[in-house]
Parts: sequence; C-alpha cells; structure tokens
Amino acid sequence: MKPNPCIENISPGYLFPEIAKRRTAYQQAHPDVRVISLGVGNTTEPIFPAAAAGLASEAKALSTPDGYSGYQDEGREDLRQRISEVFYGGKFHIDEVFISDGAKCDVGRLQLLFGRGVPVAVQDPAYPVYVDGSVLIGAAGAMDGTGYAGITYLPCTPDNAFFPDLSLVQPGSLLYICSPNNPTGYVMTRAQLAELVAFANKSGSVILFDAAYSEFIRDADLPKTIFEVDGAETCAIEINSFSKPAGFTGVRLGWTVVPFGLAYEGGGSINKAWSRVMATIFNGASNIAQAGGLAALSEAGLKEIRALTDYYLENARRIRETLGARGIATVGGDNSPYIWAQFPGRTSWDVFDELLNTYHIVTTPGSGFGPAGESFVRFSAFGHHKDVEEACARLVG
Ligand SMILES: *Cc1c(COP(=O)(O)O)cnc(C)c1O
Repeated sequence: MKPNPCIENISPGYLFPEIAKRRTAYQQAHPDVRVISLGVGNTTEPIFPAAAAGLASEAKALSTPDGYSGYQDEGREDLRQRISEVFYGGKFHIDEVFISDGAKCDVGRLQLLFGRGVPVAVQDPAYPVYVDGSVLIGAAGAMDGTGYAGITYLPCTPDNAFFPDLSLVQPGSLLYICSPNNPTGYVMTRAQLAELVAFANKSGSVILFDAAYSEFIRDADLPKTIFEVDGAETCAIEINSFSKPAGFTGVRLGWTVVPFGLAYEGGGSINKAWSRVMATIFNGASNIAQAGGLAALSEAGLKEIRALTDYYLENARRIRETLGARGIATVGGDNSPYIWAQFPGRTSWDVFDELLNTYHIVTTPGSGFGPAGESFVRFSAFGHHKDVEEACARLVG
C-alpha cells in the first residue's frame, strides 16, 4: 500500500508540537515557575446555563420514545431558520444554510466543490487549514522550493493595512478570507469587503469567508458577515461556528451559507453541489449539539454569547493595553480575541523564547501562520481572567 502523496505534502504540523516542546523543556528546568499560556486558540470558560440546558434536555429526551431522533442529515429546520434570522436578518432560505460539526470540518470539505484544478489564494498569515486542506485534496500542487505551485500567498501586514493585493490573485480562484482574522485579529471594513466582492464577481472567483469570530465585533461600523455587502450572494460562501462565541469547541457545531445565487462557470448551482457533497460524506451534526445551538440562539442564549465574548474581550483589552504601555505595536484585540504584536528586526521564535524565559508566558510565533507572520507573535485572549491578570502584571513588572 502506498501513501496518498498529498499527505506527505502537508506541512509537518510543526508549530504547536514545537511550542509544547519548548514549554516542557523550560518547565523541567524551572519546576517552581508557573507558566501561563496565552498561546492557544482553545476556549477556557464553561458553557453558560441556557445553552447547557439545551444540550442536557436533548440528551435526556433521546432516552424517551417521543424525544428520540436518529439521523438528521441536513440539520434541524428550526435551527437553520434561527441562524438565518439571527445572523442574516432572515434573508437566507433554510436550504441555503447547512449545519455542520464545525467550521474547520467544513473548510476541509468545501474544497471538494472545486477539485484539485482550482487555483487557491490565501491571506498570509492564515489559519493553517486553508493551506493544508488545499494540499490534502491536491489543489496545492507540489512544493517548488518557494511554496506550493497552486497556492498564492497574499501578504497582509501593517504595510498594506492588512488588505491583500488582489492583483496577485489568478482569475477563477478560490480565495480564503478570514475576518475577524486569526491570527492577526484584524477586522475588514465594509469598504474592504466591498472591494473583495467586486473583485471576485469580476474575476469569476469564489470567496470562502470564515466568520468564526464575528460575535467578537463590537464596533457597529464593522461588518459581521460578508453578506452585508451587495453582490456577495453571487461570489461568497460563509463559514461560521458556535465554537468560540458559545464555548462549543468540544461540543462541535457550525454552519455554512451557500447562497442559491452562487454558480459555477457554466451556470450549475454550487448550492446543489454542496448539498450533494454533504449528503455523500457527512451524516449530519449531533442532535444534542443542534439542540444546544438552538438554545444558544434563544434570547437568553444570545445574552450569554454576549457575556462570554465580553469576558474574552476584557482579557484582550488588558493584553493590548499592557503591550501598548511597553511601546509594542499591536493590532487586534478590540473586536477579536487575538492580539498581533510586532517585534521589528527579530524572529518570531526569538521573541517567543524571550517571553517564555523572562516572563514565563507562552505565545504563538507568528511565523507559524505563514511567511508574512515573521517577526510577529500572537497573544490569545482565551484564558481565565486571573491568569491573564498575572501575565500582564509580569509583562509590566
Ligand atoms: C477556531 C476557528 C474556527 C472554528 O472551528 P470549529 O471547527 O468550528 O471549532 C474556524 N475558523 C477559524 C479561523 C478559527 O480560528
């Protein structure tokens, strides 16, 4: 049996194991020091009561004749309807909303809509699954020394106000955009999204818009979905998730909007194709998770989402202000749970080591998210208040 060559092409997943290795080595050499992690993208706070009650009552109902349910391939209709209402002003039909077991899983599956022949463009730095998912399906081509032949990296740095140079994108590309961004924390403006949408419609490209952090947006002028922009329904797919706003990282629930208006070059419906892909390789999200999701979108649940995202945003504010007071340039952390800190002239790993050795704080080296992340580190606001407080006190001290 030979391996799928695409698997051998995936980046070795070196980032988080290397962080863990350096942290462990430090801890072994300094057993009395309490290391605090501001490095991970995992949530830390418990699920709030209304959402948890939705999960619990569904689990219980499954043991009763009336409450039992089996496969629910396409997702509960009431959940799809509620998602359309809460996030999109009700403008999407339930058949345009697909329930999933999470945004990352959908990112991995979505590439199947376009196959390996499609050119791919990603923001750089980016959430790793955009590149690795493309590599896995074979769309990335082989490594040619500078990168994957089929993938165009679009640097997003302070030099271009974190907006990609769209002239680099080939026509007919699959264009991955994440806003609020992981790892930079940058949120695209409405004008920037409008520029992306105009470009995609003109060049026959499709935008895969990852809005997993939309509920962290507090600035009323910033768009929470790409579908706030006219024309997005003919060029964009939006992916979102209950993971970060409702603490469902382990529960597993997300959704994807594939508008009826989105078509392949010859006019074929991408919505129908997605329905076919999902029916073929996915058997629906957990009914327990879906009941939890519906509860999370009740009036009480929405207040909880607000409270939970406020909690992490308070951490983000503390980190941002602490770094700012030390004269370190940052973006993000105001409408997103990530703070992207720049250390000109230094490597990301060098800064990582200094933060670990001097302040006993774990961060994530920006270079792990793509070449344009070099000289940055990512601070994550996912943590308990008291840990973030202590980390900030160390950084001041
Ligand atoms: C955490 C995260 C997600 C959420 O993924 P799930 O599979 O729904 O848990 C999606 N996109 C980005 C950029 C993320 O950081």
